[in-house]
Parts: sequence; C-alpha cells; structure tokens
Amino acid sequence: MTGAVHPKPQRLRPAVPAVLALGANLGDREATIRAAVAALDAVPGIRVERLSSLYETPALKVDGVDHDAPAYLNAVTGIRTTLGPTALLDAVNAVENDFGRVRDERWGDRTLDVDIVDFDGRQSHDERLTLPHPRAAERAFVLVPWLDVDPDAVLPGQGAVAELAARATDTVTLYAPAADQGDPA
Ligand code: ATP
Ligand code: MG
Ligand code: MG
Repeated sequence: MTGAVHPKPQRLRPAVPAVLALGANLGDREATIRAAVAALDAVPGIRVERLSSLYETPALKVDGVDHDAPAYLNAVTGIRTTLGPTALLDAVNAVENDFGRVRDERWGDRTLDVDIVDFDGRQSHDERLTLPHPRAAERAFVLVPWLDVDPDAVLPGQGAVAELAARATDTVTLYAPAADQGDPA
C-alpha cells in the first residue's frame, strides 16, 4: 500500500483510581518504600496521588506472627492509572524486582512487596490477579494506612475500611507520619 501513513488509533484508557500496599522487612525499609513509591510514580501511566504514614508491624509467617523475624514497614499509596489491571501488576512486579525481591518461601522475608489492594472497585479473579486483594479485609497493616489515604474507603464486596480496620486483630504501630500530617507549625 502506498500513500499516507495511517497510524493505529491510540487506545486511550481514562485514568482510574487504584490502591497499592507496600511492605518491606529487609534492608533499609523506609528508604526502600519511599524509593519504590517514586519508582511507581515514574512509570508511564501511573501517578501517585497520596502516600500514607509508615507503620511497623511484626512479620506474619505461614505459622502466625514471628517476632524473631525482622518487622515490616508498611504503607499504602493511592494512585491514578491509565494501565489495565494486568499491566499494573506487571509494573508493580517490575518495581519489586528492581528493589531486589526474591521469591522463595510463602510470606518469606523480603526487601519489597507491592500488592494491588483495589483497582477502581473491581471484583475479579484469574490465575495472576485477584481483585480486591483477597487478604486485605483482615490486615490492619493494609487497612490502617489505607484510611490515611482515604478515610471513606470501601473494600469492594467487604464494606467500609474503617469498620474492617476496627475488627482486625494484628498490631500496627505508627513509625513515620506522612509528610502532610506533620507539625502544624
Ligand atoms: P499476599 O498475597 O498474602 O500478600 P505476597 O504478597 O507475599 O502474599 P507474592 O509472592 O507477592 O505474595 O505474590 C504471589 C502471587 O499473588 C503473585 O504471583 C501475583 O500474581 C498474585 N496476586 C494475585 N492477586 C494479587 C493482587 N491483588 N496483588 C498482587 N499480587 C496478586
Ligand atoms: Mg503481600
Ligand atoms: Mg505480593
């Protein structure tokens, strides 16, 4: 075919809100979480809008809480994204890898975990991705920081995050307040 080039029409997705949970229990945990948030914001199609305070939580292993393992720092970030859910999972997996994530035992110690807690209120399940995150409802280390980002948040199919957080039994301790919640001075 000759003549004018007809580029494929760009499929532009509207930006939708999503919520990511970050956790780290190896290395410089705070530096990793803050750098990972910057790395996520640098991904084309992801814009970080809010970052919670940082919370410290004991490590949860398959057999329960493990006080001998290094504790986690956890945070939640509210983003807007033009990526679809699978592309967003690819992007967060790439960031985990960039920060040295090694996967061996389930719930093993790690430099960085980034989970998709909520994607635009969607409820779906396939072999790679379950939305919302299937264990978010019972995890104070996800629910409490999520409330920093959005006090009115709702976990799709489960209810108000504030109510779920009040019921969760794991312990979270404030570690580093969010920058915009610092001294009013
Ligand atoms: P948990 O899911 O209990 O928080 P984890 O974060 O340690 O455990 P990973 O090793 O990070 O688990 O991920 C295990 C698998 O979970 C990944 O291969 C990923 O495809 C899948 N997965 C399913 N749903 C989600 C989700 N909403 N967010 C992130 N990963 C998910
Ligand atoms: Mg996880
Ligand atoms: Mg994960």
